[in-house]
Amino acid sequence: MPTFVIIGASLAGAKAAETLRAEGFDGRIVLVGEETERPYERPPLSKGYMLGKEPLDKAFVHDEAWYAEHDVELMLGCRATNLDADTHTVTLDGVAKLTYDKLLLATGSRVRTLSVPGAELSGVRYLRTIDEAETLLERLRDGSQVLVVGAGWIGLEVAGAAREHGCPVTVVPVRSLPLPRGVGDRVGAVFRDLHVAHGVDFRFGMGIREFGGSGGQVTHAVLEDGTEVPADLVVAGVGIRPATELADAGGLAVDNGVVTDAALRTANPDVYACGDVASFEHPLIGERIRVEHWSNALNGGPAAARSMLGQPVSYDRVPYFFTDQYDLGMEYAGWAPHGSYDSVVFRGDVAAREFVAFWVKGGRVLAGMNVNIWDVQDDIQALVRAGFTGHRVDETRLSDPSVPLRDALQ
Ligand SMILES: Cc1cc2nc3c(=O)[nH]c(=O)nc-3n(C[C@H](O)[C@H](O)[C@H](O)COP(=O)(O)OP(=O)(O)OC[C@H]3O[C@@H](n4cnc5c(N)ncnc54)[C@H](O)[C@@H]3O)c2cc1C
Repeated sequence: MPTFVIIGASLAGAKAAETLRAEGFDGRIVLVGEETERPYERPPLSKGYMLGKEPLDKAFVHDEAWYAEHDVELMLGCRATNLDADTHTVTLDGVAKLTYDKLLLATGSRVRTLSVPGAELSGVRYLRTIDEAETLLERLRDGSQVLVVGAGWIGLEVAGAAREHGCPVTVVPVRSLPLPRGVGDRVGAVFRDLHVAHGVDFRFGMGIREFGGSGGQVTHAVLEDGTEVPADLVVAGVGIRPATELADAGGLAVDNGVVTDAALRTANPDVYACGDVASFEHPLIGERIRVEHWSNALNGGPAAARSMLGQPVSYDRVPYFFTDQYDLGMEYAGWAPHGSYDSVVFRGDVAAREFVAFWVKGGRVLAGMNVNIWDVQDDIQALVRAGFTGHRVDETRLSDPSVPLRDALQ
């Protein structure tokens, strides 16, 4: 009976296990995770749960009984510490050996941490896990004075949740506007204005020099210009890095993630990777990309499972993510990193935060974002697919809300 081992018991890993069984695999499945919780989804940690509106049990991928019912061996609180791809062996917690016929790496990401003086003080925190979310929620409910370092998606969501709990919030972004540079200045300004309207105090273009504290607890941050900002809770959202330690140990190719082909296979025929940790050849986009988003874990896990079963797989989902902040809901689909597009075309009312934006290069749509406008994702993704296969839009029609989106194609 073949043994398939999945390292990383989160969304991608759990969805892969589910698909293996759904596709009729009747061998042994072992799902190994270093966290002590069974697989869960992370988006609610900075949204519904952090707002105190959604219970944690809604975040779990499967109910507790599912694993036994589907004969999936769930090894929690257990870290894979070494990989010997030649002997098909994974070492667990430095001791136990587990041999596999096929191995899936779904080890996800780890948060980047701050290295300024005082970053070790109690009250300087990060958000990736349920434990961390529980602690943060408790502190927000206590009315902490919050400082958010970094104004990416997670930083802004935490800032929004903190304001909704009534906490005073200062955000120290890395740049002169919030969000990754790739979204462009106008979209960055929309999110800045949203948070300013809800009482967030931004200190733009100002790094943190150090944190100061009393009795081991953070009390304030000192910015680069010497300004002191009081804070008894600091949440740093300064990015993540792929958790490639096991792939490194196994001598697999790693280049901003575990390198795979479009079937999520590494160069080693029995090792696969999916979710945040995979840097995969994207058939539509035509380059190797790594996607740090929920839908890539949701869909990449099943794709990797089918590949492990020997089915033909060409994983070509359009990258997609979403955010919810205050009364703003947003979805984004496509691939338009900084420098890859030459204009951003808007349709709708940007000032009222009800619009669609498109990142366009040479008339081809690379990505689209709908803000407080719904039921347009299929059309946006169709335009992105058309764009990456060389079809151009008429930008005047694209920006005109009275023209159906699909009719914007030339
Ligand atoms: C607070 C928060 C909010 C988010 N909100 C959104 C959102 O709104 N929209 C969106 O699209 N995306 C969002 N994301 C991103 C999304 O959650 C991730 O893309 C997704 O979790 C990736 O899933 P994954 O299964 O690939 O990896 P992960 O969720 O990172 O899970 C990997 C698991 O593997 C474990 N692991 C790692 N190494 C080992 C090892 N050697 N041995 C055993 N176990 C190991 C880790 O501990 C972890 O449990 C959010 C993320 C966070 C943290």
